[in-house]
Amino acid sequence: MKRQLRRAALAAAAVVALLFSQHPARLRAETGAVAEGRYDLVITNARVVDGAGNPWFRADVGIQGGRIARVGRIAPAEGARVVDARGQILAPGFIDVHTHVEDIYSLPEAENFVRMGVTTLVSGNCGGSAVNVNEYLGGVRSKPLAVNLATLVGHGSVRAAVMGTANREPSAEELQKMEGLVEQAMRDGAVGLSTGLIYVPGTYAKTDEVVALARVAARHGGVYATHMRNEGERVLDAIRESIHIGEQAGLPVQISHFKISNKRWWGRTGETINLVREARARGLQVTVDQYAYTASSTSLDSRLPSWALEGGREEAKKRLADAPTRARVAKEMRDALKRSGFKDYSYAFVASHRADPALNGKNIAEITKQVRGKSDIKSQIEQILSMYEAGGASMVYHSMGEEDVRRIMREPFTMIASDSGVRRRGEGVPHPRGYGNNARVLGRYVREQGIIPLEDAVRKMTSLPAQTFGLFDRGLVREGMAADLVIFDDKTVADLATFEQPHQYAAGITHVFVNGELVVADGQLTAARPGAALRHTPGAVGVKSGLSGPRENTPADGVRPADKPRP
Ligand SMILES: [Zn+2]
Repeated sequence: MKRQLRRAALAAAAVVALLFSQHPARLRAETGAVAEGRYDLVITNARVVDGAGNPWFRADVGIQGGRIARVGRIAPAEGARVVDARGQILAPGFIDVHTHVEDIYSLPEAENFVRMGVTTLVSGNCGGSAVNVNEYLGGVRSKPLAVNLATLVGHGSVRAAVMGTANREPSAEELQKMEGLVEQAMRDGAVGLSTGLIYVPGTYAKTDEVVALARVAARHGGVYATHMRNEGERVLDAIRESIHIGEQAGLPVQISHFKISNKRWWGRTGETINLVREARARGLQVTVDQYAYTASSTSLDSRLPSWALEGGREEAKKRLADAPTRARVAKEMRDALKRSGFKDYSYAFVASHRADPALNGKNIAEITKQVRGKSDIKSQIEQILSMYEAGGASMVYHSMGEEDVRRIMREPFTMIASDSGVRRRGEGVPHPRGYGNNARVLGRYVREQGIIPLEDAVRKMTSLPAQTFGLFDRGLVREGMAADLVIFDDKTVADLATFEQPHQYAAGITHVFVNGELVVADGQLTAARPGAALRHTPGAVGVKSGLSGPRENTPADGVRPADKPRP
């Protein structure tokens, strides 16, 4: 009984604390006096870029209980701790909506992300996610993270759980099972459904299957994020399919890593962008994300025809052992290369090949010459097949045009996202985007080239991703919002990671706050792990269309307190 009373008292105290921390302005108006040291932390003298796209303004920011308690003039004495941001920019922490961090609990500090100002990650992209979203997000409780974590549920993972890598349509029963898994994932807090329609097994799905599963995500107010079926010669059809899925299922569409990766098609982003503009003009919520590089990164497997990969690597190896089948695979690869506009595979660099790490950082043409003594297309294809048989590789493909990257960046509906995983320093030669993406936009594209204004770049990294993925209490420097913040020097911010030397942290990022705690201070990682699991709450159950208005979750709904680890 005593215990119950105590619990009730604690709950009441918590409610009072919450009220006070969320409404300091009201408190101030009623009492007319401000107690000293009322904020956990005060950031002074900042030029605030608030995330909405407005020109910077000078203000101090007070943080209390993990939230932004006040924006305005605050005497330093009011803060238990003061961070002077003189000469620097204060912005909302960057939200990276396109990541692959299923393994984040093995690298909970996520240093490559926080050191470029990223405070929230959305994982589960390109069709690949944890199927048990509750377990995945729940991991934050036992293994606290430096960043906030949200996830999509991946169509490919759900399909694999129900029907393996079968190259066929699902039976009615199988589809029902898949719908059930998506339903559960959405109830567990997934922010939407993702697809990877070039990958096994997502590539085996017809449009209707995706529509059926997207409908389930739509019922819970989720988004549909897609790695489209094609990013080259059939990219227009692929965009049309994505929009069609969103329209049929009634939910917002996010086209992932929007690009043109076919050399013959370079310069045609006007057409791809127009499809998105037209859809938006019709009232469909379509947005895109992009990383600021002319190279992509994915598996070596993606160079092989998908029919050859059915059943997994062992099955595929058996297929490749049959000479006529191997010849057919080689011929299709040759044709695809020709259509892509590249003269050979010198645009394809090995990021990580476990069977022979000495090949990391080299391109397929070089490797073929080194291994086989000659480097004609036939030999290069043979080399790719033997590397596939030896376990495959992750790759970096230099396949995009700079002008297209810039044109996509200028569009108001484009957000900035890395498509990266958590990086172990020094391991392999991965794409540099995981260390430099946000800093590269702020340095190269904003300061050096003037492609977009600073305030717009920040908007693309903060409020736009937050609002698109339903994280409504983040992405803006406003009273009441979560205190995810970054302080950086706009005159020096830059990406140092290169394709040759990718393991370099970004420059000019001085302080990073996650839920009010410093995870980067004076450019160095701290020991703090204040990241929260961000579960999408099913506030919009029953709403048929994601187009009819904003989802109904309140700002505080983004975080269920149970998932927020307490120090
Ligand atoms: Zn992808």
